Amino acid sequence: MRSNMDMMIEVQDLTKYYGPTLAISRLSFEVAQGEIVGFLGPNGAGKTTTLKILSGFLSPSGGTARINGRDCVTESLEVRHSLGYLPETVPLYTDLTVSQFLRFAAQAKGVEAQKGNGELSRVMDACGLGEVQHKLIASLSKGFRQRVGLAQALINNPPVLILDEPTIGLDPSQIVEIRQLIKELAGAHTVILSSHILPEVSQLCQRVIIINRGQIVASDTPENLSRQLGHGSRVRLTVCGPEGEVVEALQKIPQVREVAGEGENRYLVVAANDLDVRPQLARLVVERGWELLELKAQEFTLEEVFLDLVTEEEVTEEES
Ligand code: ADP
Repeated sequence: MRSNMDMMIEVQDLTKYYGPTLAISRLSFEVAQGEIVGFLGPNGAGKTTTLKILSGFLSPSGGTARINGRDCVTESLEVRHSLGYLPETVPLYTDLTVSQFLRFAAQAKGVEAQKGNGELSRVMDACGLGEVQHKLIASLSKGFRQRVGLAQALINNPPVLILDEPTIGLDPSQIVEIRQLIKELAGAHTVILSSHILPEVSQLCQRVIIINRGQIVASDTPENLSRQLGHGSRVRLTVCGPEGEVVEALQKIPQVREVAGEGENRYLVVAANDLDVRPQLARLVVERGWELLELKAQEFTLEEVFLDLVTEEEVTEEES
């Protein structure tokens, strides 16, 4: 029975021990149809373990995972048919050509022979592999090999894609290409991808699940995560006026916690809590007869949120 019609991925209390090592501990999250969700965390956080369980390659020690309403353990065959999986290291047969390998992958996924050719050209097109289809995989660059990995994940047009560190080991121009490819796939597919690279996740994903030491420490849109830091909001301000006086006046506003002069009439104001102090700032500048050239809320970057969450967690553990 499906518990929720719109949820393509449902994870409940998922736990995995490797011998005595607790790799993930009671993870719960859901991914809706058409969403692209990033699984972000430092090395060893438990990303690969979670994705392997979702793909049916590893059994959990506890909890459940469902893809498209099917249980990843008891219905692993159905699960594998409804997902495409790009593992961290793609097991490519380097002595095959690209088209031979993809044909082999199509057979393994149970694609019927008469559908095979059409499916092959579709995924090769989608991943820009046409020009290398007759080349040996051994002769391909890392970027092209990654495309082959993505192409095999796309065979049979599965509704769910699980991509483990899809850009790891690629050079910057290849990274741009693969990210573009993933962006194009989102929408028609439900995508969960893991990464330890913050900008990658904030560029690609509508929602981010931050995981640290096997536990979820946050889950939200990149924008909300940046906003919810609880360190107060920041405003960037450019004011024409005598610097000393400007700083002093700004600091006197009760809701303002900190003012930093950045030169050339620019100031960074940090408000207490999450207050929007822009109206007070504007009023003050006008009252003093200075000129207001810029007044802009500045969000915390995802990197700041991530470091904050991960560091907090570590401190708490050390304290206890
Ligand atoms: P990530 O993908 O976020 O880097 P992993 O899921 O690979 O994290 O690892 C989570 C934890 O489980 C780490 O502490 C790692 O050392 C441990 N681990 C992963 N795979 C194995 C394994 N096959 N045997 C024992 N421990 C493992």
